[in-house]
Amino acid sequence: MPKTILVTGASRGIGASVAKVFADNGYKVLINYNNSVREAEALAVHTGGEAFKADVSDSAAVESMVKSIIEKYGRIDVLVNNAGISVTGLFDMVPDEEVRRLFDINVFGAFNCTKFVLPHMLKRKYGKIINISSMWGETGASCEVHYSAAKAALIGFTKALAKEVGTSGINVNCVAPGFIMTDMNRCYTAEEIADITEEIPVGRCGSTLDVAESVLFLASERASFITGQVLGVNGGMVI
Ligand code: NAP
Repeated sequence: MPKTILVTGASRGIGASVAKVFADNGYKVLINYNNSVREAEALAVHTGGEAFKADVSDSAAVESMVKSIIEKYGRIDVLVNNAGISVTGLFDMVPDEEVRRLFDINVFGAFNCTKFVLPHMLKRKYGKIINISSMWGETGASCEVHYSAAKAALIGFTKALAKEVGTSGINVNCVAPGFIMTDMNRCYTAEEIADITEEIPVGRCGSTLDVAESVLFLASERASFITGQVLGVNGGMVI
């Protein structure tokens, strides 16, 4: 029976790459999505996994998704809390509803998924939880104050939960990506991307594969003594 991984927001971008890399490494991948049904279903075919629709901010939908997975596959070995959106704008100009939606998905989404997956990991005394934060959660970004705060919340969540469940065989870690080429960064012009690239010591933007490989490492037994940590995957932009 292969190990199973549930990746939230796996229909596109970083999450899709995580799903592919884990499938290539023998995992049964369970692909969570919200809107991108065609992409999620195609990825399920490509990886031999299965797609599950649930808005991670909807606690009842997450509970039902986890129940279906456990009924069918019996266990979730790895949970990657990746689903996220970004909100940009001057701090006092972002409407409250947008801020609430940001926190509902990026923070409560991770809480919801962990809340329903964790009891099954505790029962088996085994599990790997990996939260996708951001370098902005470490350093803060101008015009992304709410996003930075939400991503910093995931770092606090990672550290505290790692302490709470460490003796139960569960590792909780965080990956903090830098500038990764996905739809999330479509808003940038080629000129802006060139300017950002100049600030990255390795001289290039990150790929989704860069992030996926770091998640694979943290889920592996090679990382069994690593918990409560934040792994920066940012080409040296934050040191
Ligand atoms: P992306 O290409 O925009 O993809 C976002 C993914 O999240 C999609 O699969 C989307 O699914 C899913 N999603 C959004 N809202 C959801 C919800 N309510 N429920 C379930 N899934 C939801 O973004 P990305 O760049 O891959 O980002 C992935 C994660 O990495 C995010 O947490 C982001 O903050 C973080 N990150 C990204 C960067 C970067 O530079 N790209 C840097 C640091 C951190 P649907 O399309 O199916 O709705």
